[in-house]
Amino acid sequence: MNPDFGTYQLAEEHEELRQAIRALADKEIAPHAAEVDDQERFPTEARDALVKSGFAAVHVPEAYEGQGADSIAACIVIEEVARVCASSSLIPAVNKLGTMPIILSGSEELKRLVLPSIASGEAMASYALSEREAGSDTASMRTRARLDGGNWVLNGTKCWITNAGESAWYTVMAVTDPNAAKPSNGISAFVVHKDDPGFSVGPKERKLGIKGSPTREIYFEDCTIPEDRIIGEPGTGLKTALKTLDHTRPTIGAQAVGIAQGALEAAIAYVKDRKQFGKAIAEFQGVQFMLADMAMKIEAARQMVYVAAAKAERGEPNIGFITAAAKCYASDVAMQVTTDAVQLFGGAGYTRDFPVERMMRDAKITQIYEGTNQIQRVVMSRALLRG
Ligand SMILES: Cc1cc2nc3c(=O)[nH]c(=O)nc-3n(C[C@H](O)[C@H](O)[C@H](O)COP(=O)(O)OP(=O)(O)OC[C@H]3O[C@@H](n4cnc5c(N)ncnc54)[C@H](O)[C@@H]3O)c2cc1C
Repeated sequence: MNPDFGTYQLAEEHEELRQAIRALADKEIAPHAAEVDDQERFPTEARDALVKSGFAAVHVPEAYEGQGADSIAACIVIEEVARVCASSSLIPAVNKLGTMPIILSGSEELKRLVLPSIASGEAMASYALSEREAGSDTASMRTRARLDGGNWVLNGTKCWITNAGESAWYTVMAVTDPNAAKPSNGISAFVVHKDDPGFSVGPKERKLGIKGSPTREIYFEDCTIPEDRIIGEPGTGLKTALKTLDHTRPTIGAQAVGIAQGALEAAIAYVKDRKQFGKAIAEFQGVQFMLADMAMKIEAARQMVYVAAAKAERGEPNIGFITAAAKCYASDVAMQVTTDAVQLFGGAGYTRDFPVERMMRDAKITQIYEGTNQIQRVVMSRALLRG
């Protein structure tokens, strides 16, 4: 046997990172999670704590004043925050989602314009792909951008934009060539700032879960931005947007794993304490088997998420299957595990006096955003059939 055998073991730095972010999440974020959900308010305590400790956007490369943390490290941060508060975990998660298009395809000037402010925590970034009539079918979007002199002028509405109103920067996909032979080749990506003329945000959606993370429409009414705010070449916007998802679906998987882990821990504590038939309910084998299944699924999901993140970090080609599989599997696990956690709490689990009903409501979104789990299965099956 070789105790130094490192395969299938996270680096020591990753474990140290986990300890640090878990301590911070337990101390600074967990105490506010129920109130944030109840009052449907932005978790400012979490944002301040994450920014102060440098955990709000660990993925930003060092060249742009960031920490240059790898994809697994970014997943660990999101997972550990989600373990106590899913809404708060959207701060690092959406900062990554909003900036990946720029990191992947943006000019040097754009990177310098946006990334240092995200790294320092002075600003947050959002990602605006979806529209009311263009959800799963992203290429059918209607938001337009046209070149007018030295500026791009945007018109249209994006919807479901996470952290809209809190973010300063928005990565926005819009049609620049409505006559493109293939609609997907007529879409470009842009960077819009909240203070750009013609930009505004709508009211908060009233949601089932992640209530601390505002979700809003954003409006472009002759919104005018400089010509160099385009990300990459005209017509490459949808490719950049979808390539981004290869890097961020593991982060949603990590969020799902974190939510599930939080629910499992709450359930373990409860079943040891709760007594029925003269003994702790943890002594019933039916309960024990439920815990075993929950933990088994979480561990499988976690490992798949880390493998997907590692492949994205290495820039491996054809990672559509594994990144979609990781997001899909982990989010299905989060839904199953949080539902079982509510079950193990009995009637108490159905009340807002315990955290598991919040976790169950929060878990649901992980099956829907960044592509529904049906769309993840479309991505996976396409990869399989392509051979
Ligand atoms: C809280 C929240 C936050 C979000 N944050 C963001 C964000 O920050 N940025 C952003 O751009 N978007 C965001 N979204 C949008 C999200 O990605 C979309 O809601 C999602 O992609 C689904 O689109 P849709 O809601 O239009 O559903 P639809 O596309 O109308 O789907 C409805 C149903 O039909 C199924 N379906 C559709 N097409 C197929 C198919 N080909 N095969 C099988 N089934 C199919 C879907 O799986 C789903 O079950 C967010 C959404 C929510 C609710």
